Amino acid sequence: MAQAGTVAGTKVRGYLEVPGTQVEIPYTDVRGAADGPTLLLSGGVHGGEYPGIAAAIEVASRLDPQQLHGRVIVLHLTNPPAFWGKMQYWNPLDGKNLNRCFPGDPEGSASERMAARVIQELRQANYWIDMHGGDIHEELVPFTIFSDHGSAEVRETAENMARAYGIPRLIRSSSVAGGSYAAAAELGVPAILPESGQVGQLDPVAQAIHVQGVFDVLHLLGFLSGDPTPHSASQVYTRMVWSRASQQGFWRPKVHPGDRVAAGDLAGILHDAYGDTLDEVRSQEAGEVLFTASSFAIGDDDPLFAVAAP
Ligand SMILES: [Zn+2]
Repeated sequence: MAQAGTVAGTKVRGYLEVPGTQVEIPYTDVRGAADGPTLLLSGGVHGGEYPGIAAAIEVASRLDPQQLHGRVIVLHLTNPPAFWGKMQYWNPLDGKNLNRCFPGDPEGSASERMAARVIQELRQANYWIDMHGGDIHEELVPFTIFSDHGSAEVRETAENMARAYGIPRLIRSSSVAGGSYAAAAELGVPAILPESGQVGQLDPVAQAIHVQGVFDVLHLLGFLSGDPTPHSASQVYTRMVWSRASQQGFWRPKVHPGDRVAAGDLAGILHDAYGDTLDEVRSQEAGEVLFTASSFAIGDDDPLFAVAAP
């Protein structure tokens, strides 16, 4: 438990140990001088999503305990094996996607134990922001997911957090099994998953979107005095439809994040090593493309693109 900073008005750094593994998750525990709720902030659940990791480090550095009402637990790098292994999606210790392992299992594989350790922190928290982005081979336009699960109060708070974060595309998600915000909703904790950044770049603009979003949510929830930045109206999508590869192949996307597509539009081609077409991949949905795979190499069942629809 990140409990070293038990004194109000202090900031304590340490490592969360994950029992049964060698994994140590660097954290900062910021205890405000004034009482208030607890927010868990995580970066790097996926090791190749660099702006969210850099944003966690920046927020932990900038938060002033003397100005803070309540407590913010920052997990700077939640999946160190994936980060150091330069892995997208997967934890090299067990080949699992950590964001499909929540709420985890303290007796399970490495990712399941890490997920359980994070949930142990979440049990102390009233809110969770889990920062993501496009992974090493993902192009992406920023968006924020909030869960459509839990009580009306939990859902409403999560939506308000997502709006305050400031990214104008929102996804009301009916859930991804094993995902962070779904596990949080099960525990009655409002959670959001903002996505900013792409293709393995440490982009300062994408990082700044995360940092500003976190501070705006802290203002919204009363951790910091003052109002969040006003934002223009958001587009709320209720479905995100993923298309996956029917087979291994060389991927030539014809659409890119931010494009509008109609159902049946050609989204890309999979061809073989000689350039002969294996599959013309078409959008199943009308909507906005939020993500495309940027890798030329595509494995069977790999994600190719996602379209968000109202
Ligand atoms: Zn991610």
